[in-house]
Parts: sequence; structure tokens; C-alpha cells
Amino acid sequence: MFNNLSDKLDKALHVLKGHGSITEVNVAETLKEVRRALLDADVNFKIAKDFTSRVKEKALGQNVLTTLQPGQLMVKIVKDELTQLMGGDAEGLNLSGAPSVILMSGLQGSGKTTFSGKLANYLKTKKSKKPLLVACDVYRPAAIDQLHVVGEQIGVEVFSDRGNSDPVAISQAGVAHAKANGFNVVIIDTAGRLAVDEAMMTEISNIHKAIQPQETLFVVDAMTGQDAVNTAKAFNDILNFDGVVLTKLDGDTRGGAAISIKSVVDKPIKFIGTGEKMEAIDVFYPSRMADRILG
Ligand code: GDP
Repeated sequence: MFNNLSDKLDKALHVLKGHGSITEVNVAETLKEVRRALLDADVNFKIAKDFTSRVKEKALGQNVLTTLQPGQLMVKIVKDELTQLMGGDAEGLNLSGAPSVILMSGLQGSGKTTFSGKLANYLKTKKSKKPLLVACDVYRPAAIDQLHVVGEQIGVEVFSDRGNSDPVAISQAGVAHAKANGFNVVIIDTAGRLAVDEAMMTEISNIHKAIQPQETLFVVDAMTGQDAVNTAKAFNDILNFDGVVLTKLDGDTRGGAAISIKSVVDKPIKFIGTGEKMEAIDVFYPSRMADRILG
């Protein structure tokens, strides 16, 4: 997943893992290497710097150099801080509504439609929910077709209205359809553009105001590194979303988005996408991710 970052961190922590004598000098050198590895993974400079400062502070606070196994304690401190940076505890979806409405936001190509299908499938098969998918991309007929294909694949109904060019009205009609037909979750797939623009922001903000979803998820391609973080910030400023979905983590991503996004927008990563198939969805657990990164 983050092969490059994992290799570099492994090298950085090598001396500490080796149970050799550990000195203030090699702790400092290790932290420098850790910071370099984070920067190479496209983590924002300030986040990487603050991260190593916190690790250092903790290490001093716990008198690392005088403990029996200083190397292991240092590795643990790095792992704990990495977990905190990515969000601490895992956070689930708020499914309290009747029906619960989940609004998808994000740029075109980020994986919204695919993830809408994955989430519907997950809620249906793992949480015994009856989800409805709603197609609100009025600009690309192909996007509506794509959602119908996905819906058929997973056996979930898709609500669309091809004659209607008002996404707000379609989303409201979708929620009304769900209420009238016993669906307990509504997943609204929206249009995205290739870059953040005012028209898209106004549209998604209008949908958000009209349907007041229990969950607004921001979907972002993990391959895009710091760009992902900047896009997240722009969407969060408008929507104050509830959680992030990081897609395409099956590729050889550098890791910057996964590590930085929580501290920039202060919203948890809730799910990850790890492939094109409907089953390629995982709940995001910061500590498991830290384990994977540190190997
Ligand atoms: P949308 O424009 O945001 O709705 O994006 P799509 O859902 O159409 O996804 C864009 C492309 O990314 C499609 O080719 C998807 O198959 C692909 N895709 C989506 N999620 C993932 C993922 O987790 N891993 C990989 N490898 N590809 C993905």
C-alpha cells in the first residue's frame, strides 16, 4: 500500500529496532530520517515537523534512554503518534435517521460512484440495511448509467430522473421515494468536476441544505497526495462534512493524504477503497493503518 514510506520508516527505525545501545545522537538522527520519510510521502512540512517534535517530547518525557528497551519504546511512541495523527479511534457512520441520508461529495474521478455502490453493498450485506442509491449527476448521462449498472450488480435499487435537470429536486424526490418505500438508508451520488469550482460548490451546498443529510462524506483519490488535502479543505469549508473516504489505496500511493488529511480538516477518515470491485471497501482503523505503515 505505502511501500515506499514503509521501507523508509523501517530503515529510519532500524537502529532502534536493533536493540543496540541507543544514544541521544541516534535518536535525533532517527527522527530526522522519520521526518524525511514523511516529507517524501507527500506529508505537509508543518505536519511532519510537528509530528517529530511530538515524538521527541514524548520520548524525553518517558525517559526513553534510561529504559530497558529504549528502541522498542521509541517505535511504540512513533506508532502511537502516527495513529493519533490519522484519527485515534475508528469512527462509524451516523445511521440514526429514518431514513439515514448519506451525501457523497468530491471531484469527478475520485471514485464517488464506485464508492456509493460499495457502501450500499456493505450496508446491505454487513449491516442488514435496505439502501437506496440516488443518481444526482445531471450533466453526465453516463454517470447515471454507471450507477444503474452498479445497483444491478449488487441488487440495490437506483432512483434517477433523466428528464430532470435540478439535482436538488432529484435528491429530495429520492429521499421521499425512500420514505414511501421502506428504504432505511439513502445514498446520494452527486456530480463532480475535475477541479474545485464555484458552480459545483454551490450545487452541492444547495443539495446539502435541502436534504440535511445525517452523513456527508468527502471522497478523495489517495494517489493525489497534498492535492487531496487541499481539495478536502475546500469541500470542508463549504460543507463541514462528517468524514473522509480515501479511495485507490490499492495503488502504490505515497501515503501523504492518509497521514495528513485528519489534521488539516479535523474530520475522520471513515472508509477506504482498495480496488474497483464492490467488495473492495474497508472501515478505516487508524491503529491498523499505522501497523501497516510501520510494518
Ligand atoms: P466518480 O467520478 O467520482 O464517480 O468516480 P468513479 O466512481 O467513476 O471512479 C473513477 C475511476 O476510479 C473508475 O475507473 C473506478 O473503477 C476507479 N476506482 C474507484 N475506486 C477505486 C479504488 O478504490 N481502487 C481503484 N484501483 N480504482 C478505483
